[in-house]
Order: sequence, then C-alpha cells, then structure tokens
Amino acid sequence: MHEGALLSDLVACALLIGGVKAMSHPRLARRGIFIAGVGMLVVIVGNAVFGPAVTGLRAGLAFLAVALGGGLAWYESRRVAMTAMPQMVALFNGLGGGAAALIVVTRLFEPGRPTGLVLLFGLLALAIGGLSFGGSGVALVKLAGRWSKPLRFRFQNGVHALLAFVILGVGVGVLLHSGHGSRLVVLLAVLSVFLGVAAAAPIGGADMPVVISLYNALTGIAVGVDGLMLGNPALIVAGTVVGASGILLTRLMARAMNRSLGQVLFAHFGDAAASGEAGSGTYKEMDLADAAVTLAYARRVRIVPGYGLATAQAQHKLAELTELLRQRNVEVRFAIHPVAGRMPGHMNVLLAEAGVPYDLVQDLEEANPEFPQIDVALVIGANDVVNPGARTNPASPLYGMPVLDVDRARRTLVIKRGRGTGFAGIDNPLFSAELTYLLYGDAKAVLGQLVGAIKSL
Ligand code: NDP
Repeated sequence: MHEGALLSDLVACALLIGGVKAMSHPRLARRGIFIAGVGMLVVIVGNAVFGPAVTGLRAGLAFLAVALGGGLAWYESRRVAMTAMPQMVALFNGLGGGAAALIVVTRLFEPGRPTGLVLLFGLLALAIGGLSFGGSGVALVKLAGRWSKPLRFRFQNGVHALLAFVILGVGVGVLLHSGHGSRLVVLLAVLSVFLGVAAAAPIGGADMPVVISLYNALTGIAVGVDGLMLGNPALIVAGTVVGASGILLTRLMARAMNRSLGQVLFAHFGDAAASGEAGSGTYKEMDLADAAVTLAYARRVRIVPGYGLATAQAQHKLAELTELLRQRNVEVRFAIHPVAGRMPGHMNVLLAEAGVPYDLVQDLEEANPEFPQIDVALVIGANDVVNPGARTNPASPLYGMPVLDVDRARRTLVIKRGRGTGFAGIDNPLFSAELTYLLYGDAKAVLGQLVGAIKSL
C-alpha cells in the first residue's frame, strides 16, 4: 500500500473515531457529524490520489458516481422536512448496505477474482449488505406510514430459515466454483435482499426501533467486511465503528422495549386487531385558560414529548413555555422515552435544537419513580410511550414494554389533535383515565396559546 494512502487512511480513521465519540453527547453531536464527514472526504480524496491508478472510462464513472451520489444526498438533506428525517436515515442506511454489496459484485466480476478467505469476506459482505438494503427499504416504507399492517403467515420463521439455508448453499457454491460462479453471485445478492424484506415484513409497529438499529449495525458490518476483502483500513475502521455502535444501540432499544432481539425477530407480537383493542372511553377536555393556570401554579411539572412534537415542529414553542414556567419557579423536567418519536434520540435532537438545557432531561428510569409526586404531567404528541396498557393488558402488543408512568402523576394534560392512535395503532386507556385532560389541537398552536395565556396571568 502507498505510504500516502496509508497516512490518509490513518488520518481518516482518527477523524471517524473522534467524530463518533463527539456524537455521543447531544451538545457535540453536530460537530461530531462534521468531523466524521471530513474523515469520509479524506478517505475519498486520499484513495483517489494515492490509491491504485484509475483512468479513462472507469475514472469518469467513479467521478460521476461520487458527484451524483454526493449531490443528491446534499440536495435531499437540505430539503428534507425534520419529520421525514427517520425515513431519510433508513434510506441512507439501506443505500450504504446496497453499496457495500455492489462493491463485492463489481470486485467478483473483475478479472483476477479473489479466492479463499478474501472471497469468503466478499460473500459475507454481499449477503449482509443485501440483507440490510432489503430490510431498510421495508423500514423506510413502514416509517413513512405506507405499510401499517405486519405481514404474517403460518410457518413464516420456517420459510425464512429455509431462505437463509439456500443463501448459505449458494455461497458455498460460489466458493467451490471459483471462476464459474457469476450467476450464483447475482442469485446470492437477490436472495439476500429478499430475505431482508421478508424478515422485516412481519415486525409490528412498536418493535421497529430495534429493527432499524439492527439494520444500521448490519450496514456497518458489511462495510467493515468489504474493507477486509479490499484490504482497506479506512473501510474496516469505519464499518467496525458503525457496526459496533449499531449493535450497542440495538441492545439499548431492545432493552427499552423489554424484548430480546430473538423475540422481536421471531416471536412477531400481535397487532391492534389481534389485541382486541379498539378506540374507546370518554375523553375529558380542559379549556386553555384552566390549563395555563394548572401549569403556572404547579410546583413540579414533567413534560413528555412524543412523535407529535416532531410533526408539529413545536420544539421552539415548548422551549419558550419551559422558560416561562421556570421563571415562575416551577420545577420543569423532560421525561424522555428511548423509543419516543421515529428514530433513536429523536426527542433529544429536537430539544437540543431548541436550546433546552440538557440537565433538564431525564431518562425513563430516572423519571418514573418521581411521577406520583408530580403535580402535572404534560404529554405532547406522545401516545405509545405513555400507554399504561403496556403494564396492565397482556393482550396489548406493547405489553411488557416499559412506559413513562404519567398516569401516576396527580394530573395529566395531553396535547393531541383528536382521537388518533400512535405508531402501534392501538387504543390508549390513559386518555380516558380519571385524572387525564385533553387539550385538542396541533402541538405548536396549543403551546403557543398556552405561552400567551401564562404571560397574561
Ligand atoms: P406515537 O406515534 O405513539 O403517538 C403520536 C401521537 O401524536 C398520536 O397519538 C397523535 O395523535 C399525536 N400527534 C400527531 N401529530 C400531532 C400534532 N401535529 N400535534 C399534536 N399531536 C400530534 O408517538 P410516541 O412518541 O409516543 O411513540 C413512538 C412510537 O413509534 C412507538 O410505538 C415506537 O416503538 C415507534 N417507533 C419508534 C422509533 C424510534 O426509533 N424512536 C422508530 C420506529 C417506530 P392525534 O393524531 O390525535 O394528534
């Protein structure tokens, strides 16, 4: 390997690791993303300048690919609504897996095809990358709300196991037929994508966070194994870092749902119809002036944001309300559920964007014991993460998932637009509970009105 390439890879590795480290704190996360981006740029430029000479048509195609991919990503990222961010993340993740798989396909179709262990690495990257591409595609469609009912049938796990077995067989076929396995390589790629789609199809509403994190990890692993095939240290490091952090996130998400990964992937929990729940109960409304007084004269308030805060883009109004209450000496904290919103850390990102001090943020374990002493729990566009049925109703698809116990607070105010369900598509007994009052409307509008009403007290 050229010394220049080695040096640029080394610099890139340091930047990637430093970037990921910075991303672990909300205050430094933006900077972390920038640092990791510079790392990727160093890899690309370093390899173009010092890597094996690429000339003629191939150089033109490579340039076109970088310009098109980079340009599209730049354009889309600037344009994307904050609410469509989770889909965007799923798309980028899937494309990463697909790219990792395609690198293998091109390498295996070139003259001087690798053999032995290097070929094995290539086939692994192809299968894992294809799996992630297919699964992330399903996640994207589900997050966009275009596929709400999980696809389930009898012996589904058996069919998936058979498919995995066939993929294994095809992989062994490629390994044994060095020089004649091109069709088998394509078959392996297609089957892996298909298994990714099939495995994600039966996974129900609330379990999607675990699956998204898992596919994130798989993309990282595919890129890392690509690096082993190509002997490229930067790919190995970048892939390993993403793969390892994805695995940690998957564990965290699974723990947050109180499920094992095996349960999420193979036990296929019930959906709304199976649970027998339907929209029910009478909701009590509170008028805005009363709500303003209730909040302004409370001693301790806990705010529980959810997906509706993101759709309404109400984080800045929420920060204003928080400031106003704190000026009146109300103790305000934010209770954040790990799967609130539509992507890991969704609520933390919104609150950080609005400049909410990070020391006001509590996680589930910290927040729950305090709810019985809380005067007002203010739920803003959250539903599944505050569903007490997860504790009490064994037929609920959420059963067993730890939720924020807002129903144990002295009073609960809920801002939502109507009787809409959450991502899991089930009824929430919290809304008809004795101490719960609804404030109907779009979160941003209602928070704006509350701010106005409290100012005029
Ligand atoms: P939910 O999706 O459960 O509920 C959102 C609520 O917000 C709805 O009840 C809706 O009611 C209300 N809402 C929507 N728009 C607005 C608005 N503009 N103003 C006010 N309210 C609004 O959100 P949660 O955060 O409680 O739960 C997250 C769910 O998403 C969980 O089931 C989780 O498993 C899943 N998920 C999470 C992922 C993650 O990584 N965090 C990834 C994939 C899925 P109404 O229509 O009546 O207004």
